[in-house]
Amino acid sequence: MAERRPLVAANWKMNKTRSEAEEFCRGLLPLVENAAAEVFVCPPLTCIGTVVEAVSGSAVEVASQNMHWEGEGAFTGEVSAAMLLDVGARGAILGHSERRRLFGETDEALARKVPAALEAGLLPILCVGETEEERDAEETDRVLRRQIDAGLARVEVHRLAEIVIAYEPIWAIGTGRTATPEQAEDAIGFIRALVAARNEQAAESLRILYGGSMKPENAEELLGRGEIDGGLIGGASLDPEAFAAIVTAAG
Ligand code: PEP
Repeated sequence: MAERRPLVAANWKMNKTRSEAEEFCRGLLPLVENAAAEVFVCPPLTCIGTVVEAVSGSAVEVASQNMHWEGEGAFTGEVSAAMLLDVGARGAILGHSERRRLFGETDEALARKVPAALEAGLLPILCVGETEEERDAEETDRVLRRQIDAGLARVEVHRLAEIVIAYEPIWAIGTGRTATPEQAEDAIGFIRALVAARNEQAAESLRILYGGSMKPENAEELLGRGEIDGGLIGGASLDPEAFAAIVTAAG
């Protein structure tokens, strides 16, 4: 079986000013110095440059929370992959459920964004996950299949392994409710099988994270599972000590 390096990413959402971001980095860096996991911080756009500077010289990397698929043009309020690379970002969260639900991000948009990020040299962290109603109606697999099919549709097979997928059940995001390790493993196993249908080797190498109310208290139980290759962390990532504890649990 392929060795997959764990990855833990902090999704700050719309939180932190530049000085708060600097303070966070000062607290975080000594705590993750020897981390085995790959660590990403995903600040709001206004803080990306600040965080890039604050983590320079360390292994911590920076990703955005969104990205447009075009290189430039009349797209008010958007940023391109080239712009993100220019400020030092190395990745982009794409298709977070808050973007899908609150800002109308579609599967079709994701079908463009994922290959655009890859082609530009950014690590795409593609988020997928079902609502509570969809889970109750036993539609989880159907929803995941639709989101994965769309997100990976235009990705060349030889680049599939470079993508990171985050399974984030919407009912667990910011609610304090966490998927059980079994629920997370089932969904992640299903996603891996979807990728394997396109390329078995890529499916073995590609990292699939869990996200949804992960915190230091439950991180070990979730991240101890072989199928779960790391975490996308919202609320608990705002505090350097809590985030570092999750990073340590991953590695
Ligand atoms: C997220 O927004 O990606 C997330 C997992 O949030 P939380 O950890 O707060 O549930």
